[in-house]
Amino acid sequence: MIDNHGRTVNYVRLAITDRCNLRCFYCMPEAGIAFAERSLLLTYEEMERLVRVLVGLGVDKVRLTGGEPFVRRDFMPFLERLAAIEGIRKIGLTTNGTLTAPHVPDLKRLGIGPVNLSLDTLHPRRFFEITRRDEFTHVWSTLEALMEHGMEVKINMVVMQGRNETDILEMAALTRHLPVSIRFIEEMPFNGEGQHYTAWRWDFVRIVEHLRSAYPQLTKLPDPPNSTAYHYAIPGHRGNIGIIAAYTRTFCGTCNRLRVTPQGLLKTCLYDSGIFNIRDLMRAGASDAELADSILEAVAHRAKDGHEAEANRFAGLPVTESMTTIGG
Ligand code: SAM
Repeated sequence: MIDNHGRTVNYVRLAITDRCNLRCFYCMPEAGIAFAERSLLLTYEEMERLVRVLVGLGVDKVRLTGGEPFVRRDFMPFLERLAAIEGIRKIGLTTNGTLTAPHVPDLKRLGIGPVNLSLDTLHPRRFFEITRRDEFTHVWSTLEALMEHGMEVKINMVVMQGRNETDILEMAALTRHLPVSIRFIEEMPFNGEGQHYTAWRWDFVRIVEHLRSAYPQLTKLPDPPNSTAYHYAIPGHRGNIGIIAAYTRTFCGTCNRLRVTPQGLLKTCLYDSGIFNIRDLMRAGASDAELADSILEAVAHRAKDGHEAEANRFAGLPVTESMTTIGG
């Protein structure tokens, strides 16, 4: 699939559910959001059918996200079926790690990876303040299990002024002994409420400067094609660092991804308000060929970048939805 800006699209991020057992303040209000009724979620059968159609169109990389994928019942049997689809080169997983540790041996057996583990701090009390749940030890056990099984791991840390900026250097220091990639992510307004931050933000430039102040020997690494991160290494450290300009949006020129929300909305950009609903099309009896045509049509009209997608949102409304309804 090639879009109207000449970008190859070969990657889909599929959100398994909008439910999550954490309440990270940058993602959801404390009381949660109006979670979708089960009947409105894509079923596993519908997701599998969709992935097969997408593979037929050239998608060879899938990432499963949410919500928290492991809070949806029977997620592992679904993963098993997905892993058996021929033509998928990579299945990645994004998880908060609270329920993941017992499944790590099966994730390894199925060849899942990279696993992106969300962890915004190394301090249990701060973890509670950010996520409003006391789950740090479970997440840490997941990290240990992933390391023991030699899995490829990326740790996602959203950098937020007044919340966890002192964790930046501690997280970077983790790369000394652990072969993980620490990914510092700019906060975005997908929190169920709208823009939080005002004048001062940790953008990617600031994050690099901060790292460099502690590690003057910080070295820029080449970024793989289609990467959303700027990669760096600290000489002598086993892991590396990625900085994701998620709000500044500097990486759209090579964007190769589609997103599908738990309710089946196809998004050709994180910042758009959805192009069409795959669930509705499927439930109205569309054939695989019709599904494929609709997807190709959407890909042929993609926004040039996240700023254009945001400007074209439905009724000009700003981003306020929670990331748990999209997948990140
Ligand atoms: N539950 C899984 C998890 O926690 O990784 C997957 C879903 S979560 C929505 C995916 C990623 O989106 C997480 O790494 C999370 O930190 C990130 N995220 C959520 N809201 C965000 C925001 N407002 N700005 C930046 N990143 C955000």
